[in-house]
Amino acid sequence: MAAADYYEVLGVPKNADEKEIKKAYRSMARKYHPDVCKEPGAEERFKEVNEAYSVLSDAQKRQQYDQLGHDTFTSASKGQNSNTGGFHGGSGFSADFSGFGDIFDFFGGGFGGHRPQGPARGGDLLMKMEITLDDAVFGADREIEVLHNEPCQPCNGTGSETKKANPCSRCGGSGQMKQMSQTIFGQIVRMTTCPDCQGRGRVPERRCGSCHGSGSTRVKRKVTIHIPAGVESGMRLRMEGYGEPGDPGAPNGDLYIEMHIRKHPVFTRHGDDLEIIMEITPAQAVIGSKIEVITLDKRTVEVTVPQGIQHNTALKIPGEGVRKRGRPGDLLVRVRITTPRQISQEERDLYEKILEIEGKRQKEGKKGFFSSFRAKKEK
Ligand SMILES: [Zn+2]
Ligand SMILES: [Zn+2]
Repeated sequence: MAAADYYEVLGVPKNADEKEIKKAYRSMARKYHPDVCKEPGAEERFKEVNEAYSVLSDAQKRQQYDQLGHDTFTSASKGQNSNTGGFHGGSGFSADFSGFGDIFDFFGGGFGGHRPQGPARGGDLLMKMEITLDDAVFGADREIEVLHNEPCQPCNGTGSETKKANPCSRCGGSGQMKQMSQTIFGQIVRMTTCPDCQGRGRVPERRCGSCHGSGSTRVKRKVTIHIPAGVESGMRLRMEGYGEPGDPGAPNGDLYIEMHIRKHPVFTRHGDDLEIIMEITPAQAVIGSKIEVITLDKRTVEVTVPQGIQHNTALKIPGEGVRKRGRPGDLLVRVRITTPRQISQEERDLYEKILEIEGKRQKEGKKGFFSSFRAKKEK
């Protein structure tokens, strides 16, 4: 089944407010609830409705969804689940839509606090990356160097030079140790990781010199990250498994790459639109003309300036903005009428002629700007 747009799933317009979305979700969820609806495909629909609501009900996720479009948004978030631990030639990246309230910076131990008995997942890491406006608008692939946990080669990941390991005598091979303590609340049993085998339950027969018995090494790896078109400053891409190493048997943390878009000397960005300022002469503004605009990807586009255009008017070139899937943004050409500082004698004569005509018009007391202004004021 083709992935449906979240707005279509809930049957609400794109500009629906929070209340409308909530209302639509409630009625859809009630209709397709698997306990209630026995129609074939109801459960699937129910899941879709929930997925759509989880995104559209969150202002930040919704904004990103609107920006990136359905395909980019969903393929990015699905990548997190399908690529467990693996990193397949750069496709293991995914945009992070989990909100930025959490602290990822070197949060040692990951979720260890929730599972005091098991081996702890590695901590997440945060890396900042500066990208150009071009990268953000068109998307880009960037190669970065990261540290990754890989099995130690000399010992084949066993941690032992002989590639053999013996059961740990301290913990009896369980990797865990019971610690009993007598407190005023009674006897408390606490499980801790065995310090001799670090929770593996086995100790190397002869400790490997390269990895000091851990069985893994941190290797520098060049990886390509895919920056989707439409990213904004502050957005984070997630690289699964490239965070701090976890305890043996537990997954590594993730690496988050936070995007920072460098200011462009010519173009400014407003959401999906780009803006460029073009100077025109008073004559061009009065008569109208054609001007050439160089786009962000350095193509020349001709724009028609209509006669009588006013200062600061924006002319729109559709589709030349942020190149995200679905509807791309526009390029706004903001027109600034600038007075020439130096003119030739010929121009001077012509301007004087214009001035003369304007003066006459004013004296004749016809509907000039000032007379109509006065008329309004006197009323
Ligand atoms: Zn042990
Ligand atoms: Zn080794």
